[in-house]
Amino acid sequence: MPSKRHTVSPERLLRQEVLSLHAYHVQPSPGMVKLDAMENPYLLPENIRTEIARAVASSAINRYPDADAQRLKNKIREISGLPPEMDVLLGNGSDEIIQLLALAVAKPGAILMSVEPSFVMYKMIAAFTGMKYTGVPLTESFSLDLPAMLDVIRLQQPVLIFLAYPNNPTGNQFDAAAIEQIIVAADGLVVIDEAYYAFASSSFLPQLGRYSNLLVMRTFSKLGMAGLRLGFLAGSKVWLEQLEKLRLPYNVGVLTQTVAEILLKNHQVLLQQAEQIKLDRTWLFERLVGTVDVHAYPSEANFILFRLPHAARVFEGLKQRGVLIKKLDGGHPALLDCLRVTVGTAEENELFVRALQESIHQFA
Ligand code: PMP
Repeated sequence: MPSKRHTVSPERLLRQEVLSLHAYHVQPSPGMVKLDAMENPYLLPENIRTEIARAVASSAINRYPDADAQRLKNKIREISGLPPEMDVLLGNGSDEIIQLLALAVAKPGAILMSVEPSFVMYKMIAAFTGMKYTGVPLTESFSLDLPAMLDVIRLQQPVLIFLAYPNNPTGNQFDAAAIEQIIVAADGLVVIDEAYYAFASSSFLPQLGRYSNLLVMRTFSKLGMAGLRLGFLAGSKVWLEQLEKLRLPYNVGVLTQTVAEILLKNHQVLLQQAEQIKLDRTWLFERLVGTVDVHAYPSEANFILFRLPHAARVFEGLKQRGVLIKKLDGGHPALLDCLRVTVGTAEENELFVRALQESIHQFA
């Protein structure tokens, strides 16, 4: 064996952007009431599970998947009411689509713009792909600071703009008229990230034909398919046929295609679950608003952001009581003393509220 004269270390080899990154952190959760990741808490009815089991049993997993996933795309068009002239691109979760978009536009010095606080992957993926990132602060009430955004658009000319609609982690829906002004002002692509569409009151899908630089992205993760990893981008063929070139072949596996087709055939069941989650969101919001010292932010998503004194300690208190939510305190300065809870089943929500009250009293 030839011996090496020197050690090849990550520090010498890797890009500085990669060395500076902190990996996306997923909290361990075995045995916990899991309200940290915006998952749908419901299992599927027995008959659908049986149908899935049969379909999986006869799946040709020895073969590569249908590279175009045409049947699945048709189903997605049908349930989303997509305008017929619009195309669909599928991703292994919408995270993959964010990365694909960034890869496509990452010329040297190109800027990816979003708002802060928002979904952290926009900034991380800018770093992955060597893009520069500008995060325009939201106002104190977490709405868009339109003048500041228009300034950045004018001065920095971002090539890619992501707006989560509703926003994560704040839960609110930004003003649609302000977003349209941004789309009109921008020379870059504007991607409306509708990850939480199933819980929201409005969408930009019907606007797709109106603006040449508008794309809409959705995921099925929050609707009950987080484990499958399936997201899509909708937009005009002009854009999507270019972006398709960057999609890795077979990025959506046989099992994901098979199971997602069955689930989307039963879309109504998932939408009913989403309706139940919206009702429980109201219940949970009222409990939070009624809790002394807690400030809860109205949400159009399947989670609620709230602020309270000693948030970090209360978060630990919840964990000791077997309830896992998300601690945002310590991340972005605008999220000082903020926690985020995903709406669970009625029983999980009650357990959370009880554990929250106990934890608050513990530190009062
Ligand atoms: N966009 C937003 C706004 C999100 O909150 C998330 C998940 N936290 C995603 C995209 C990514 O979802 P997925 O990769 O599961 O499709």
